Amino acid sequence: MPDPAFLPFTRPHIDEQTIAEVGRVLASGWITSGPKVQAFETQLSALFGGRPVRAFANGTATMEVALRVAGIGPGDEVITSAITWVATANVVVAVGARPVFVDIDPVTRNLDLAAVEAAITPRTRALMPVYLAGLPVDMDRLYDIARRHKLRVIEDAAQAIDARWQGRRIGSFGDLVSFSFQANKNITCAEGGCLVMNTVDEAERAERLRLQGVVRTGADGMDVETPGGKFNLTDINATIGLGQLPHLAAITQRRTELAAAYFQATERHGLASLGIGLPPTPMAISAAGITPNWHMFQVVLPAERLAGGRAGVMQLLKEAGIGTGVHYPALHLFSFYRGLGWRDGQLPAAERIGRGILTLPLFAQMATEDTDRVCFQLALACRQLAL
Ligand SMILES: *Cc1c(COP(=O)(O)O)cnc(C)c1O
Repeated sequence: MPDPAFLPFTRPHIDEQTIAEVGRVLASGWITSGPKVQAFETQLSALFGGRPVRAFANGTATMEVALRVAGIGPGDEVITSAITWVATANVVVAVGARPVFVDIDPVTRNLDLAAVEAAITPRTRALMPVYLAGLPVDMDRLYDIARRHKLRVIEDAAQAIDARWQGRRIGSFGDLVSFSFQANKNITCAEGGCLVMNTVDEAERAERLRLQGVVRTGADGMDVETPGGKFNLTDINATIGLGQLPHLAAITQRRTELAAAYFQATERHGLASLGIGLPPTPMAISAAGITPNWHMFQVVLPAERLAGGRAGVMQLLKEAGIGTGVHYPALHLFSFYRGLGWRDGQLPAAERIGRGILTLPLFAQMATEDTDRVCFQLALACRQLAL
């Protein structure tokens, strides 16, 4: 059992009704993809304004299917962010294409859209924006670039369920939009994901790619035109997701309150004066028409000015009973991507933020007072380790 006094950076919450319903599914004799997955897809489609939705085993599989539905493959380039979970780039490699990393905007920590446009070549086929911490990019500008260069957009909205752009929910517009329901996300299936698409034809292709590419005909016929994967969601996982959806609005609201409490606590404890970078302020975000879902509250430490760097701070916080996370180091400096030719110094903002970024505890069930305790301990740790 986890130590109840320890504050983790996140924790899923499954209500008792859902736990009971999972038990009924397990006892029903039908535990893999079935009626619960269909019900989950129907509710998700309603959430996204009636657009076609299919569910998958996880967010990574969802993005891989999205790339295949868009016809991305060998010889193609896909432009994406260097600050994301490595799945974003790995799926591009999985379909045989080349991920092209661009630098991030140091304020939003999302793709720098001017850098995106500069990175477009005749081989570019798709843009893959990532909404880090559930913060959308400037969607008008993103889709304007895509239209002018005739590119597909595969949105890595893994962290962005219920985030909005100018009042419209992410997923309810756009091209192919991929979500994850992994355990740490704002709502979860334990593991799961879903893809929002444009047409019934795309949805049917996604459905085939989800299960080996099999097409059934008549009572006993079967064919495969394009081999697919084994990417289906189970009814057990879909039942967890169905139990989360009714809480979505309350979860987003509670996270937004906690983020506001964090901003006040960062001021009380003088985090900015210690050289700690904060997320974009609610005022700056709302002026830009962006409503994040506060999937994470992330600070950027001045790592090079702290004895033991970020790890030193994480250790002191852990000793104070506070869990933190790193989301994420810059992807292009991982060995595999270095092997594709990426080097230090190519993406300076991503590299600096990748070294200093730290995720503080934020989840709907935590107490508001905890935001003060976290900021107090963070300030203390940074003063103690200051070089
Ligand atoms: C969680 C996540 C994924 C992958 O989702 P899984 O369900 O873990 O496969 C991809 N991209 C980002 C940005 C994520 O946060």
